[in-house]
Amino acid sequence: MLKGKTAIVTGSTSGIGMGIAHALAAQGAQVMINGFGDAAAIEKERAGIADKYKVKVAYSSADVTHHGEVQAMIEQAEKELGPVDILVNNAGIQFVEDIEKFPTEKWDAVLGTNLDSAFYSVRAALPGMKQRKWGRIINIASAHGLVASARKSAYVASKHGIVGLTKVIALETAQSGITCNAICPGWVLTPLVQKQIEDRAKAENISTDKAKHDLLAEKQPTLQFVEIAEIGALVVYLCGDMAKSITGAAISIDGGWTAE
Ligand code: NAD
Repeated sequence: MLKGKTAIVTGSTSGIGMGIAHALAAQGAQVMINGFGDAAAIEKERAGIADKYKVKVAYSSADVTHHGEVQAMIEQAEKELGPVDILVNNAGIQFVEDIEKFPTEKWDAVLGTNLDSAFYSVRAALPGMKQRKWGRIINIASAHGLVASARKSAYVASKHGIVGLTKVIALETAQSGITCNAICPGWVLTPLVQKQIEDRAKAENISTDKAKHDLLAEKQPTLQFVEIAEIGALVVYLCGDMAKSITGAAISIDGGWTAE
């Protein structure tokens, strides 16, 4: 379905981003993966996706909080794979603390990774998409793009921000064959959430299983984690022609979190 298309997925050396890279490659797209981690493990992942789905896969080590590195990532993708048709802004970090104790450098890091990065990448990729009159921009926001939780000021602000940015991009591209949407997942069991489970177990002196259950019970009525593959499938759907009128939307995939 996506044969001949080139996709970039930021933050795809782990968790949700890695799942999205697999889902796009499975549809025949060439993919640029990006993110931090052990060089040998990343190369193994890159070669593994290429081999499994018989597509070209490239890697960029760009730190998405730096404008120049994001620009270079887009240029590298164009050179190694072809013009960028699909851009998935997924890289993200979390930090949990009361506002009055929230370190300002953590605020900057969360906003830089979760929000500024998407502005940089869209700014760089959009002219080519407009020229070719086709593009799909998908921002991985969060249930926290729609509602808040205490102690997550930077994360909630960044995710509400990316939902707003998504709407502006959708309006500016509405007649260009380009769509821009935000996906708002609830809890997905990835390293980002595993850390919160472990911190909670430690703080409350409970087992990690109990912390996991309490985390779900607090927010996610299904009491089940959203699976990474479900998010990959939604990304693929949004890339299809039957989703061409879906733009500017914030799509929840959250087990009922934001229905309450
Ligand atoms: P993760 O920690 O498993 O993966 C994060 C990825 O981002 C990694 O590949 C990491 O190397 C990369 N990254 C971090 N900082 C970067 C930077 N400066 N430059 C480039 N890459 C960087 O996290 P995840 O849970 O898979 O989260 C992915 C996205 O989904 C994030 O935007 C997160 O906010 C969002 N999200 C996650 C959940 C969840 O429950 N896990 C829920 C809602 C939204």
